[in-house]
Amino acid sequence: MRLQKYMAKCGIASRRKSEHLIQKGLIKVNGNVITELGYKIDPANDIVEYKNKIIKMEEKKVYILLNKPVGYITTVKDQFNRPTVLDLIKEVKERVYPVGRLDFDTSGLLIITNDGELTYKLTHPSHEIVKTYIAKVKGIPNESKLNNFRNGLYIDGYITSKADINVIRELKNSSVLKIKIHEGKNRQVRKMCAKIGHPVISLKRIAIGKLRLNDLPKGQWRFLTQKEIEYLK
Ligand code: URA
Repeated sequence: MRLQKYMAKCGIASRRKSEHLIQKGLIKVNGNVITELGYKIDPANDIVEYKNKIIKMEEKKVYILLNKPVGYITTVKDQFNRPTVLDLIKEVKERVYPVGRLDFDTSGLLIITNDGELTYKLTHPSHEIVKTYIAKVKGIPNESKLNNFRNGLYIDGYITSKADINVIRELKNSSVLKIKIHEGKNRQVRKMCAKIGHPVISLKRIAIGKLRLNDLPKGQWRFLTQKEIEYLK
């Protein structure tokens, strides 16, 4: 790509103005001042500097909501070659990554983006957004156990913060619970359910804040709406 076009794409200046900056000797490519106007660069590998600052092309921000099936790992790459959630969004060309984690054996709502600021905000412990799960567990927890869950449990050396839990269906030897937590520690819902004596059989996340999975089929994804993006930010 021509240097002045690259500069314009990075939002430094118009192409015309960028040409002036080049001619004035203000632009470096890989440490060398370039004054030639037709100079071609490789945006993926060359380092372009203006006023001693590296200039980069802004990638378009994308925001994806995926209904993760069980059996996919929530990382960009897996050392054991298991399928990752990125395998489900192959059509997306931007370099995106998952916000937080869902276990290999958990399904449901996962946000995937290339917006680092949003990721930081959503996963930072000081303002972790409420996440809603549906858990099928062994047995039926009584009110006293539910209250223990709500008030905080001692797990891995910390006390979980206030949570919400209700039995929404009683089955013969199991029950279905609706759980809301703010934190996102490793396997937290599973550990909390096990702690009150009702281990998880299956787990699905159905909402993050006001974002809902609704009827999005398993393994399918959609872009967030502008309204949803604004809400999260
Ligand atoms: N809590 C868990 O235990 N697992 C998840 O995947 C998400 C929350």
